[in-house]
Amino acid sequence: MNYLYALSMIFIPLPIFIKKIKMKRFLSVLVLVLTLSSSLFAQTPKIEYIAHAAFILESSQGTRVIIDPYHSYKQMGFTFPEAIAADAVLITHPHYDHDGSQYFSKNTPIYRDVGRYQINDIQFYGISSKHSFAEQIGKSGNQNYNTIWVVELDGVRIAHLGDNGVPSAEEVSLLQDVDYIIGHPQDAYYSLFTDKTYIPNHYLLPEVTKHTNWMKPVAGWLEGKSDVSKLESNSYTPTVKDTAGKILVFQPSPLVQEWSQDYYDALAAISAGYASYKETENLEEAVAFMDKAITLAPFVMDGYYSKAVLLSRKQENTKLISVLEHAFSAVPDVDWGTEAKARILLARAYAATANTTLAYNHYRWLHRHQRIANTNDLKEAQEYITTFEAKD
Ligand SMILES: [Zn+2]
Repeated sequence: MNYLYALSMIFIPLPIFIKKIKMKRFLSVLVLVLTLSSSLFAQTPKIEYIAHAAFILESSQGTRVIIDPYHSYKQMGFTFPEAIAADAVLITHPHYDHDGSQYFSKNTPIYRDVGRYQINDIQFYGISSKHSFAEQIGKSGNQNYNTIWVVELDGVRIAHLGDNGVPSAEEVSLLQDVDYIIGHPQDAYYSLFTDKTYIPNHYLLPEVTKHTNWMKPVAGWLEGKSDVSKLESNSYTPTVKDTAGKILVFQPSPLVQEWSQDYYDALAAISAGYASYKETENLEEAVAFMDKAITLAPFVMDGYYSKAVLLSRKQENTKLISVLEHAFSAVPDVDWGTEAKARILLARAYAATANTTLAYNHYRWLHRHQRIANTNDLKEAQEYITTFEAKD
């Protein structure tokens, strides 16, 4: 590193100087040089925006934690830069737009649950809460929790609300000491934290993609707001007690890439496939669209999963098993939601073809991943597991 190089440049000529000046004077010069060089080469802490809800918080010592990396091929319209490295991954909740933890090496610790933790010089803790759509999600499964993360680096506290519902009075008081709030661009949230610096996230990014989804660009929310700082880049140096009430808007990372045209074309083929099946119920014709999607984008689950859905409607179990087993070996990363849906299709197909042990294994997986599975699927899994284990 530069710092070491600079020190060597100072220390190598030392013997020459020692002969010429007295020891006391030498020491005072040395102290001065060390002070100057450390202030010249010390790093500052950083908040770095990737895109959507993904932020890297980096301490002055270079420790990096990432919060909420998103899944590349799901709704966002752009990819997650997979080469990004971090010392820890913090996930607020297991939805595809917040949990792309599979992009990090097996040795990188992943945190999802409430508690106090430390990685090198960064301390962080999770506050247990609920997703903003907890009621609706609660009906279909258990994925309705949300962990608010508070990260302390170099004396600065930064809270990431994830998709939390509007914080309760108790939650607001737990966040009292925080300097920065990363939250949705909504007044209901922002108005609770006017004594802090507010960083909106989780909005549409037309500067990165032509794809549209359920979100809107942040510009509408910023209209009429005073004290908005639009950054030129995706990086910012946080300080304790930054301007209260200020809204900091980051640029997305230059590493973020729009989806490839092939992936857009694959999505269009899948829509055409479902539409064709709905109209004619001709399995072969509809499956041909899904095969086209697989050829265009073999690196994602979309085409395989959609083909399996169609095959399941006609109880083509053997074909379904072969499509999904191939998909699980061919697709490098599958989002939790699609994995759970594909596993239940596989479990049923194995059960229908009397492969009870394989059916059991997939149901067991769903049971182990209770937080992401659908409530009815979990019930089905539990029943199968109980019957299977009773036979043993
Ligand atoms: Zn979200």
